[in-house]
Parts: sequence; C-alpha cells; structure tokens
Amino acid sequence: MSQRLRHLTSLENMPSATIERLLDRAVSMRDACAHGTRKLDLLAGRTVLNLFFEPSTRTRTSFELAARRLGADVINFDIGLSSTSKGEALFDTLHTLEAMHLDTIVVRHKISGTPDELVRHAMSGVAVINAGDGNRAHPTQGLLDMLTIREHRPDFRQLKVVICGDVKHSRVARSDVHALRALGAKEIRLCGPAGLMPEASEFPGCTIVENFDEAIEGVDAVIMLRLQKERMASTDLPDEAAYFERFGLDNRRLALAGKGCLVMHPGPLNRGIEIASEVADGPQSRILEQVGNGVFVRMAVLCEVMGR
Ligand code: ASP
Repeated sequence: MSQRLRHLTSLENMPSATIERLLDRAVSMRDACAHGTRKLDLLAGRTVLNLFFEPSTRTRTSFELAARRLGADVINFDIGLSSTSKGEALFDTLHTLEAMHLDTIVVRHKISGTPDELVRHAMSGVAVINAGDGNRAHPTQGLLDMLTIREHRPDFRQLKVVICGDVKHSRVARSDVHALRALGAKEIRLCGPAGLMPEASEFPGCTIVENFDEAIEGVDAVIMLRLQKERMASTDLPDEAAYFERFGLDNRRLALAGKGCLVMHPGPLNRGIEIASEVADGPQSRILEQVGNGVFVRMAVLCEVMGR
C-alpha cells in the first residue's frame, strides 16, 4: 500500500497508486452518502481551518461541506476582516490560529509555494492542504478531474485529452497534467494563444498545438480554462471576441472531438469567451459532475491527511 499523505500541496511526482487510492476513497464516500448517510463521524472532534487569501466559490464551499459531512468543526478565516489585512505576517497569523488547536489548514494564496511554506512552519501534527497557490498547483481540482474522467473513461492508457486556454497561468492545468501523466494518459495536448502558453519544458510529455480545430480532433476529454486576468499584465489581455473565435468551445468544434467527448471546466465559466452556453449546458458537459465529485474527493483528502 502506498504511504499515507501527511499534507497535500501538489500532485507532482505523486505515485499512481496514491492517486487511485484517493479516488477509490472518494467513491466510497459518495456511496456512503448515497445510502442515506449524509453525515459520517470520521472527523468528529477535529478542526479544519479554511484560510483563503484569494476569492473562491466552489473550492471553499466544497471543503467546508466535506469537513462538515465528516463531522469536523470548520472555521472560515475571513482575510478581509483579519489582522493579516492590518499587516500581520502570515506566520504570526498561522501561529495565532494554531494556538487554538487546529488539525488541518486548507490554504489558498496568490503566491506559488505558500502551502509548502506553511508545511515548513506549521506545528507538527497540523496538516496542510493546498486549495490553489498562484499558477503552481490545485491538487484537489486535479483529483476531482481524474475522478470525473475515470468514471467515463476508465482506461487512461487509451485516453486523449486536450487542455485549452490560458495554460500559462493555470494551476489547474499543472495539477491535471501531473495526474494524467501519473495515470498513464495516452496523449495530452495543450492549446491556446502563443502568449498564454507555458515553456514546453515545464510540461514534459505534452504536445503544444496552436490550432484548436486540430488540437481537439479525436480527443476523449476537453478541459477548458478561464483567462486568468488577475495574473496577467493588462497588455497581455486578448480581445475577447477574437479569442472566442480561435479558442472558444462551441458545438461546431466539439463535433471534431471523439464521440461522446467529455466537456470539462474547473469554473468559474466565462460564457462566450472560452465556452459557449450551448456546450456548457449541453449533453456532453461534465462540469456540474466535477463540482459534485469535488466534495467527495475533499472528504477523502481530509480523512487521508488526518489519518482516518
Ligand atoms: N477555480 C480554479 C482555480 O482556482 C480555476 C479558475 O479560477 O479559473 O484555479
């Protein structure tokens, strides 16, 4: 059996056995909840702190729901109202909160590497889960994307995927690629405007294809990404209509993909910029399924890092 994780900051170099174990555990959580048990008590008496320094809708709510369904107490730390906004150093905030006896910190921060810094400074016994750091990693999103794909396309060795949009600034793309490679995906294509593409060396094992019509041809899953305007200089912002024309997903383009291709997006969606409503709300869309799976994946991760 692969070793238990004490923290989850990235999927980079995570063995496939660990990924599979977390996905299997998420499925067990879902089964338990489907059989009428909306609340398990695996984490009764434990405390989870949501420490979000960047806005979030899905991820924060999903972690909160996951922790509550496991019986844990949850504290949502509102940065806007906290002493951090008065200039308190991150680690002083951390130690102050730790003195209140936390078990797990779920952190989102615009600076890449912050979760690992917290791991280095956290009191022993306190687990850290990365809920998105800069453009570096969003491991629970990567896991929930793999669960969503696995349910429909269980054989990753046959899987062709295209990730399209602002790959350069996307932590989701990085975590997805780490997991897809670990699980042995057959082909991973990256597509987007040249200015929003990463260095190829940063994404080994992927093929960069600039023309979306070519990139989507025959794929089993298409993962669309949002333009991460908050991480771009204003001069880098593409013209939105021209962007949709070249890199937007509509029904015409989706018809070029493989039969029944899964349409995925981590949210928030920008309709008419990277994805048309006809596709986002269409029969091949798995977007809400991703959101649903997110809660079970986070339940699995919380149990994992807290040793339950
Ligand atoms: N929600 C995802 C993230 O936090 C994707 C996005 O914001 O576009 O990275």
